[in-house]
Amino acid sequence: SRQLTLASRPNGAPNEKNFKLKTVELPALKDGEVLLRTIYLSLDPYMRGRMSDAKSYADPVNIGDVMVGATVCQVEESKNDKFNEGEWVLAYTGWQDYAITDGEGLMQLGKEPANPSYALGIMGMPGFTAYMGLLDIGQPKEGETVVVAAATGPVGATVGQIAKIKGCKVVGVAGGSEKCAHAVEKLGFDACIDHKADDFAEQLEKACDKGIDVYYENVGGKVFDAVLPLLNTAARVPLCGLVSQYNATSLPEGPDRLGMLMGQLLTKRIKMQGFIIFDDYGDRYDEFAQDMQKWLQDEKIQYREHMVEGIENTVDAFNDMICGKNFGKTVVKINNP
Ligand code: NDP
Repeated sequence: SRQLTLASRPNGAPNEKNFKLKTVELPALKDGEVLLRTIYLSLDPYMRGRMSDAKSYADPVNIGDVMVGATVCQVEESKNDKFNEGEWVLAYTGWQDYAITDGEGLMQLGKEPANPSYALGIMGMPGFTAYMGLLDIGQPKEGETVVVAAATGPVGATVGQIAKIKGCKVVGVAGGSEKCAHAVEKLGFDACIDHKADDFAEQLEKACDKGIDVYYENVGGKVFDAVLPLLNTAARVPLCGLVSQYNATSLPEGPDRLGMLMGQLLTKRIKMQGFIIFDDYGDRYDEFAQDMQKWLQDEKIQYREHMVEGIENTVDAFNDMICGKNFGKTVVKINNP
Protein backbone atom coordinates (compact mmCIF):
# COMPACT_ATOMS: atom_id res chain seq x y z
CA SER A 1 0.00 0.00 0.00
CA ARG A 2 1.27 3.50 -0.80
CA GLN A 3 1.10 6.34 1.72
CA LEU A 4 1.88 10.03 1.46
CA THR A 5 3.40 11.07 4.76
CA LEU A 6 4.43 14.49 6.01
CA ALA A 7 8.25 14.63 5.87
CA SER A 8 8.76 18.24 7.01
CA ARG A 9 6.71 21.35 7.71
CA PRO A 10 6.29 23.64 4.69
CA ASN A 11 7.38 27.26 4.82
CA GLY A 12 5.00 29.03 2.44
CA ALA A 13 3.56 26.83 -0.30
CA PRO A 14 4.18 23.10 0.30
CA ASN A 15 6.43 21.27 -2.15
CA GLU A 16 7.24 17.64 -2.99
CA LYS A 17 10.10 17.60 -0.46
CA ASN A 18 7.66 18.17 2.41
CA PHE A 19 6.11 14.75 1.69
CA LYS A 20 7.34 11.21 1.31
CA LEU A 21 5.65 8.52 -0.75
CA LYS A 22 6.13 5.30 1.20
CA THR A 23 5.20 1.72 0.34
CA VAL A 24 4.14 -0.36 3.33
CA GLU A 25 3.04 -3.97 3.88
CA LEU A 26 -0.48 -4.34 5.23
CA PRO A 27 -0.89 -6.61 8.27
CA ALA A 28 -3.52 -9.38 8.25
CA LEU A 29 -7.03 -8.29 9.36
CA LYS A 30 -8.04 -8.99 12.95
CA ASP A 31 -11.58 -9.72 14.11
CA GLY A 32 -13.74 -6.59 13.98
CA GLU A 33 -11.52 -4.86 11.43
CA VAL A 34 -12.23 -3.67 7.89
CA LEU A 35 -9.77 -3.17 5.04
CA LEU A 36 -10.66 -0.08 3.02
CA ARG A 37 -9.45 0.66 -0.49
CA THR A 38 -9.37 4.39 -1.19
CA ILE A 39 -11.19 5.38 -4.35
CA TYR A 40 -11.51 9.17 -3.87
CA LEU A 41 -9.48 11.50 -1.67
CA SER A 42 -10.79 14.98 -0.88
CA LEU A 43 -8.34 17.89 -0.94
CA ASP A 44 -9.42 20.84 1.19
CA PRO A 45 -7.81 24.15 2.21
CA TYR A 46 -7.84 23.27 5.95
CA MET A 47 -5.12 20.67 5.25
CA ARG A 48 -2.59 23.49 4.95
CA GLY A 49 -3.17 24.19 8.65
CA ARG A 50 -2.53 20.55 9.55
CA MET A 51 0.87 20.67 7.83
CA SER A 52 1.93 23.46 10.15
CA ASP A 53 2.50 23.34 13.91
CA ALA A 54 1.07 26.82 14.54
CA LYS A 55 -1.63 26.67 17.24
CA SER A 56 -5.04 26.01 15.73
CA TYR A 57 -8.43 24.44 16.46
CA ALA A 58 -7.07 20.99 15.53
CA ASP A 59 -3.75 19.27 16.16
CA PRO A 60 -1.16 19.21 13.38
CA VAL A 61 -0.19 16.04 11.56
CA ASN A 62 3.01 14.70 13.12
CA ILE A 63 6.13 14.41 11.00
CA GLY A 64 6.21 10.89 9.55
CA ASP A 65 2.44 10.40 9.80
CA VAL A 66 0.07 9.92 6.85
CA MET A 67 -1.52 13.24 5.80
CA VAL A 68 -5.13 13.39 6.97
CA GLY A 69 -8.16 13.76 4.76
CA ALA A 70 -11.67 12.57 4.02
CA THR A 71 -11.93 9.65 1.61
CA VAL A 72 -14.57 7.61 -0.14
CA CYS A 73 -13.52 3.98 0.00
CA GLN A 74 -14.74 0.53 -0.90
CA VAL A 75 -14.63 -2.30 1.59
CA GLU A 76 -11.99 -4.68 0.23
CA GLU A 77 -12.20 -7.19 3.07
CA SER A 78 -14.23 -7.29 6.26
CA LYS A 79 -14.05 -9.09 9.58
CA ASN A 80 -16.72 -6.77 10.97
CA ASP A 81 -20.42 -7.78 10.80
CA LYS A 82 -21.53 -4.23 9.99
CA PHE A 83 -19.58 -4.02 6.73
CA ASN A 84 -19.62 -6.19 3.61
CA GLU A 85 -17.11 -6.48 0.80
CA GLY A 86 -17.73 -4.07 -2.06
CA GLU A 87 -19.77 -1.56 -0.03
CA TRP A 88 -18.88 2.13 -0.15
CA VAL A 89 -18.10 4.24 2.90
CA LEU A 90 -17.14 7.80 3.73
CA ALA A 91 -14.02 7.61 5.89
CA TYR A 92 -11.23 9.79 7.18
CA THR A 93 -8.26 7.66 6.17
CA GLY A 94 -6.06 10.30 4.54
CA TRP A 95 -3.56 10.30 1.71
CA GLN A 96 -3.11 6.54 1.20
CA ASP A 97 -4.16 3.58 -0.96
CA TYR A 98 -5.52 1.32 1.78
CA ALA A 99 -6.39 1.62 5.45
CA ILE A 100 -7.43 -0.78 8.18
CA THR A 101 -10.05 0.45 10.64
CA ASP A 102 -12.36 -0.93 13.32
CA GLY A 103 -15.34 0.61 11.52
CA GLU A 104 -15.72 3.43 14.05
CA GLY A 105 -16.81 6.72 12.46
CA LEU A 106 -17.42 5.34 8.97
CA MET A 107 -20.54 6.55 7.16
CA GLN A 108 -22.12 3.86 4.99
CA LEU A 109 -22.93 4.90 1.42
CA GLY A 110 -24.42 1.59 0.26
CA LYS A 111 -23.58 -0.91 -2.47
CA GLU A 112 -24.09 1.22 -5.56
CA PRO A 113 -24.26 4.92 -4.67
CA ALA A 114 -25.07 7.12 -7.68
CA ASN A 115 -22.27 9.64 -7.09
CA PRO A 116 -19.99 8.33 -4.34
CA SER A 117 -17.54 11.24 -4.57
CA TYR A 118 -20.33 13.73 -3.79
CA ALA A 119 -19.94 12.68 -0.14
CA LEU A 120 -16.69 14.68 -0.16
CA GLY A 121 -18.25 17.81 -1.63
CA ILE A 122 -21.79 18.91 -2.21
CA MET A 123 -23.29 16.27 0.14
CA GLY A 124 -20.36 16.41 2.54
CA MET A 125 -18.23 18.82 4.53
CA PRO A 126 -17.98 21.71 2.01
CA GLY A 127 -21.71 21.66 1.18
CA PHE A 128 -22.60 21.49 4.88
CA THR A 129 -20.23 24.40 5.58
CA ALA A 130 -21.85 26.53 2.88
CA TYR A 131 -25.34 25.74 4.16
CA MET A 132 -24.76 26.42 7.86
CA GLY A 133 -22.50 29.43 7.46
CA LEU A 134 -24.87 31.14 5.07
CA LEU A 135 -28.21 30.25 6.65
CA ASP A 136 -27.38 30.21 10.36
CA ILE A 137 -24.85 33.05 10.53
CA GLY A 138 -25.55 34.95 7.30
CA GLN A 139 -29.37 34.92 7.78
CA PRO A 140 -29.99 36.04 4.17
CA LYS A 141 -33.34 37.66 3.47
CA GLU A 142 -35.17 37.93 0.17
CA GLY A 143 -33.93 40.85 -1.90
CA GLU A 144 -30.66 41.24 0.01
CA THR A 145 -27.27 41.24 -1.69
CA VAL A 146 -24.95 38.33 -0.89
CA VAL A 147 -21.30 38.32 -1.95
CA VAL A 148 -19.09 35.23 -1.93
CA ALA A 149 -15.56 34.63 -3.22
CA ALA A 150 -13.97 31.37 -4.41
CA ALA A 151 -17.32 31.38 -6.19
CA THR A 152 -16.80 28.24 -8.27
CA GLY A 153 -15.28 26.14 -5.47
CA PRO A 154 -17.41 23.69 -3.48
CA VAL A 155 -18.18 26.11 -0.65
CA GLY A 156 -18.61 29.33 -2.65
CA ALA A 157 -20.67 27.80 -5.47
CA THR A 158 -23.02 26.26 -2.93
CA VAL A 159 -23.33 29.46 -0.88
CA GLY A 160 -24.30 31.44 -3.97
CA GLN A 161 -26.82 28.89 -5.21
CA ILE A 162 -28.50 28.58 -1.81
CA ALA A 163 -28.66 32.38 -1.60
CA LYS A 164 -30.40 32.40 -5.00
CA ILE A 165 -32.89 29.79 -3.74
CA LYS A 166 -33.57 32.18 -0.81
CA GLY A 167 -34.33 35.02 -3.23
CA CYS A 168 -31.17 37.07 -2.83
CA LYS A 169 -29.10 38.95 -5.35
CA VAL A 170 -25.80 37.09 -5.58
CA VAL A 171 -22.48 38.56 -6.66
CA GLY A 172 -19.59 36.12 -6.90
CA VAL A 173 -15.87 36.79 -6.92
CA ALA A 174 -13.60 34.36 -8.78
CA GLY A 175 -10.22 34.16 -10.48
CA GLY A 176 -10.52 34.55 -14.26
CA SER A 177 -13.19 35.05 -16.90
CA GLU A 178 -13.95 31.36 -17.39
CA LYS A 179 -14.85 30.87 -13.74
CA CYS A 180 -16.87 34.11 -13.71
CA ALA A 181 -18.84 33.02 -16.79
CA HIS A 182 -19.54 29.66 -15.13
CA ALA A 183 -20.84 31.36 -11.97
CA VAL A 184 -23.32 33.45 -13.95
CA GLU A 185 -24.32 31.02 -16.69
CA LYS A 186 -24.30 27.68 -14.87
CA LEU A 187 -24.75 28.61 -11.21
CA GLY A 188 -27.22 31.43 -11.81
CA PHE A 189 -25.35 34.20 -9.97
CA ASP A 190 -26.43 37.72 -10.91
CA ALA A 191 -22.84 38.79 -11.50
CA CYS A 192 -19.31 37.52 -10.87
CA ILE A 193 -16.23 39.73 -10.70
CA ASP A 194 -12.69 38.64 -11.55
CA HIS A 195 -10.47 39.51 -8.57
CA LYS A 196 -7.44 39.58 -10.87
CA ALA A 197 -8.82 42.58 -12.79
CA ASP A 198 -7.03 45.91 -12.12
CA ASP A 199 -10.32 47.64 -11.43
CA PHE A 200 -11.72 44.80 -9.31
CA ALA A 201 -12.87 47.07 -6.44
CA GLU A 202 -14.68 49.45 -8.83
CA GLN A 203 -16.37 46.55 -10.62
CA LEU A 204 -17.50 45.06 -7.33
CA GLU A 205 -18.93 48.39 -6.19
CA LYS A 206 -20.86 48.73 -9.45
CA ALA A 207 -22.26 45.21 -9.20
CA CYS A 208 -23.33 45.81 -5.58
CA ASP A 209 -25.30 48.98 -6.26
CA LYS A 210 -27.31 48.55 -3.04
CA GLY A 211 -24.32 47.63 -0.91
CA ILE A 212 -23.65 44.22 0.63
CA ASP A 213 -25.89 42.63 3.27
CA VAL A 214 -24.12 39.29 3.61
CA TYR A 215 -20.46 38.75 2.81
CA TYR A 216 -19.59 35.07 3.12
CA GLU A 217 -15.84 35.24 3.79
CA ASN A 218 -13.77 32.47 2.17
CA VAL A 219 -10.61 34.28 1.13
CA GLY A 220 -9.65 37.46 3.00
CA GLY A 221 -6.91 39.67 1.56
CA LYS A 222 -7.70 42.20 -1.13
CA VAL A 223 -11.20 40.82 -1.69
CA PHE A 224 -12.11 41.72 1.88
CA ASP A 225 -10.47 45.15 1.46
CA ALA A 226 -12.82 45.81 -1.46
CA VAL A 227 -15.86 44.42 0.36
CA LEU A 228 -15.47 46.28 3.69
CA PRO A 229 -16.50 49.78 2.51
CA LEU A 230 -19.52 48.30 0.70
CA LEU A 231 -21.02 46.54 3.74
CA ASN A 232 -24.43 47.87 4.71
CA THR A 233 -25.65 48.69 8.20
CA ALA A 234 -26.45 45.43 10.03
CA ALA A 235 -24.53 43.34 7.50
CA ARG A 236 -23.55 39.78 8.46
CA VAL A 237 -20.15 38.29 7.73
CA PRO A 238 -19.88 34.52 8.26
CA LEU A 239 -16.10 34.06 8.61
CA CYS A 240 -15.52 30.69 7.00
CA GLY A 241 -11.99 30.78 5.62
CA LEU A 242 -9.05 33.00 4.68
CA VAL A 243 -7.43 30.98 1.92
CA SER A 244 -5.46 33.94 0.53
CA GLN A 245 -3.27 33.84 3.65
CA TYR A 246 -2.84 30.10 4.30
CA ASN A 247 0.63 30.04 2.70
CA ALA A 248 1.65 33.44 4.08
CA THR A 249 5.02 33.67 5.82
CA SER A 250 4.68 37.30 6.92
CA LEU A 251 2.03 39.95 7.57
CA PRO A 252 0.46 41.53 4.47
CA GLU A 253 2.00 44.73 3.11
CA GLY A 254 0.38 48.09 3.50
CA PRO A 255 -1.05 50.13 6.35
CA ASP A 256 -2.61 48.55 9.45
CA ARG A 257 -6.34 48.33 8.69
CA LEU A 258 -7.48 46.93 12.02
CA GLY A 259 -8.69 50.29 13.37
CA MET A 260 -10.73 50.90 10.25
CA LEU A 261 -12.24 47.43 10.44
CA MET A 262 -13.29 47.92 14.05
CA GLY A 263 -14.70 51.36 13.26
CA GLN A 264 -16.82 49.90 10.46
CA LEU A 265 -18.03 47.03 12.65
CA LEU A 266 -19.07 49.52 15.30
CA THR A 267 -20.72 52.26 13.28
CA LYS A 268 -22.49 49.89 10.92
CA ARG A 269 -23.32 47.30 13.63
CA ILE A 270 -21.85 44.56 11.49
CA LYS A 271 -21.89 41.01 12.84
CA MET A 272 -18.83 38.97 11.95
CA GLN A 273 -18.67 35.41 13.21
CA GLY A 274 -16.20 32.62 12.67
CA PHE A 275 -17.23 28.97 12.75
CA ILE A 276 -15.72 25.50 12.44
CA ILE A 277 -18.29 23.32 10.77
CA PHE A 278 -18.25 20.03 12.69
CA ASP A 279 -17.41 21.63 16.04
CA ASP A 280 -20.26 24.10 15.82
CA TYR A 281 -22.86 22.29 13.72
CA GLY A 282 -21.99 18.58 13.90
CA ASP A 283 -25.46 17.70 15.18
CA ARG A 284 -27.26 19.41 12.30
CA TYR A 285 -25.96 17.37 9.36
CA ASP A 286 -29.34 15.67 8.70
CA GLU A 287 -31.11 18.99 8.31
CA PHE A 288 -28.60 19.98 5.63
CA ALA A 289 -28.61 16.57 3.91
CA GLN A 290 -32.39 16.59 3.54
CA ASP A 291 -32.50 20.01 1.92
CA MET A 292 -29.49 19.40 -0.29
CA GLN A 293 -30.71 16.02 -1.55
CA LYS A 294 -33.95 17.67 -2.59
CA TRP A 295 -32.23 20.62 -4.27
CA LEU A 296 -29.97 18.26 -6.23
CA GLN A 297 -32.94 16.14 -7.30
CA ASP A 298 -34.84 19.23 -8.42
CA GLU A 299 -31.69 20.46 -10.22
CA LYS A 300 -31.72 23.66 -8.20
CA ILE A 301 -28.07 23.13 -7.33
CA GLN A 302 -25.29 22.44 -9.84
CA TYR A 303 -22.06 20.79 -8.75
CA ARG A 304 -18.72 20.61 -10.50
CA GLU A 305 -15.71 18.47 -9.60
CA HIS A 306 -12.05 18.96 -10.44
CA MET A 307 -10.89 15.34 -10.68
CA VAL A 308 -7.17 14.54 -10.62
CA GLU A 309 -5.86 10.96 -11.09
CA GLY A 310 -3.20 9.22 -9.03
CA ILE A 311 -1.79 9.55 -5.51
CA GLU A 312 1.50 10.82 -7.00
CA ASN A 313 -0.29 13.98 -8.21
CA THR A 314 -1.80 14.82 -4.83
CA VAL A 315 0.69 17.49 -3.72
CA ASP A 316 0.45 19.36 -7.03
CA ALA A 317 -3.33 19.12 -6.93
CA PHE A 318 -3.34 20.51 -3.38
CA ASN A 319 -1.20 23.49 -4.38
CA ASP A 320 -3.31 24.10 -7.48
CA MET A 321 -6.39 24.29 -5.27
CA ILE A 322 -4.89 26.75 -2.80
CA CYS A 323 -3.87 29.13 -5.59
CA GLY A 324 -6.98 28.73 -7.72
CA LYS A 325 -5.89 26.44 -10.55
CA ASN A 326 -8.74 24.10 -9.64
CA PHE A 327 -12.14 24.54 -11.25
CA GLY A 328 -14.64 22.92 -8.90
CA LYS A 329 -14.25 20.60 -5.92
CA THR A 330 -10.75 19.05 -5.91
CA VAL A 331 -10.86 15.25 -5.66
CA VAL A 332 -8.01 12.81 -6.31
CA LYS A 333 -8.97 9.45 -7.76
CA ILE A 334 -6.56 7.18 -5.92
CA ASN A 335 -7.76 3.82 -7.30
CA ASN A 336 -10.37 2.64 -9.78
CA PRO A 337 -13.57 1.32 -8.20
P1 NDP B 1 -11.88 26.02 -3.17
O1 NDP B 1 -11.95 24.74 -3.91
O2 NDP B 1 -12.82 27.10 -3.55
O3 NDP B 1 -10.37 26.51 -3.29
C1 NDP B 1 -9.91 27.70 -2.81
C2 NDP B 1 -10.16 28.84 -3.81
O4 NDP B 1 -9.80 30.06 -3.21
C3 NDP B 1 -9.29 28.79 -5.05
O5 NDP B 1 -9.82 27.92 -6.01
C4 NDP B 1 -9.30 30.25 -5.50
O6 NDP B 1 -10.42 30.46 -6.36
C5 NDP B 1 -9.56 31.02 -4.21
N1 NDP B 1 -8.39 31.84 -3.85
C6 NDP B 1 -7.15 31.41 -3.54
N2 NDP B 1 -6.34 32.46 -3.26
C7 NDP B 1 -7.10 33.57 -3.40
C8 NDP B 1 -6.84 34.97 -3.26
N3 NDP B 1 -5.63 35.43 -2.93
N4 NDP B 1 -7.85 35.83 -3.48
C9 NDP B 1 -9.08 35.40 -3.83
N5 NDP B 1 -9.39 34.08 -3.98
C10 NDP B 1 -8.40 33.19 -3.78
O7 NDP B 1 -12.03 25.77 -1.59
P2 NDP B 1 -13.26 25.31 -0.69
O8 NDP B 1 -14.55 25.66 -1.34
O9 NDP B 1 -13.03 23.91 -0.26
O10 NDP B 1 -13.07 26.23 0.61
C11 NDP B 1 -13.39 27.60 0.58
C12 NDP B 1 -13.06 28.24 1.93
O11 NDP B 1 -13.86 27.65 2.94
C13 NDP B 1 -11.62 28.07 2.38
O12 NDP B 1 -11.16 29.25 2.95
C14 NDP B 1 -11.71 26.98 3.44
O13 NDP B 1 -10.66 27.05 4.36
C15 NDP B 1 -13.05 27.32 4.05
N6 NDP B 1 -13.69 26.22 4.79
C16 NDP B 1 -13.99 26.45 6.10
C17 NDP B 1 -14.64 25.51 6.86
C18 NDP B 1 -15.01 25.83 8.26
O14 NDP B 1 -15.45 24.95 8.98
N7 NDP B 1 -14.85 27.05 8.71
C19 NDP B 1 -14.96 24.20 6.29
C20 NDP B 1 -14.66 24.07 4.88
C21 NDP B 1 -14.03 25.06 4.17
P3 NDP B 1 -10.40 31.58 -7.52
O15 NDP B 1 -9.57 31.01 -8.63
O16 NDP B 1 -11.81 31.75 -7.87
O17 NDP B 1 -9.76 32.79 -6.92
